Amino acid sequence: MAEYDKQLPLITASNRPFWAAAKRHELVVYKCLNCGSAYLQDSDCTTCGGPRMAWVRASGRGRVFTFCVFHQAFHPAWKGDIPYNVAYVKLDEGPLLVSNIVGCERGDISIGMPVEVVFEDITAEVTLPKFRPVK
Ligand SMILES: [Zn+2]
Repeated sequence: MAEYDKQLPLITASNRPFWAAAKRHELVVYKCLNCGSAYLQDSDCTTCGGPRMAWVRASGRGRVFTFCVFHQAFHPAWKGDIPYNVAYVKLDEGPLLVSNIVGCERGDISIGMPVEVVFEDITAEVTLPKFRPVK
C-alpha cells in the first residue's frame, strides 16, 4: 500500500470491534438485544437502558442521509481528490456513518439514494467502509 497521508479514524477500546470487523470487510453494529437499537461504538442502550448489548453483523445497506461535495481542499492531503464528497449514510440498522460515496459520478448522488458498503484497505490497521449505489 502507498503511504497514506490523510487523517485516520481514532481507534479506541469502545470502537475497536467496529474497525476490526472492517478489516475483515464486515460491517458491524453494537446492538441492543432488548429493543434492537444499534450503535457504532460500545455504549449502554440510550433508547431503553437495557444492559444486554452485542456486536452483530449489519446488512451493509443504507441510504444517503445527506452529503456535500468539497471543491476546496481544507487539508493538503485532499488536494488531489477535489471535488470529493462526504456523506452521512443512515444504515438500515439505524446509525449514521460518515463516509464517502464511490462508484458513481458526484452528480448522481442524491439524498435518500440506496447504497451498500464496500471496503477500502487504507493501512495495515485501517480499512474504511465506503458506500456505492445499489444497482
Ligand atoms: Zn435498547
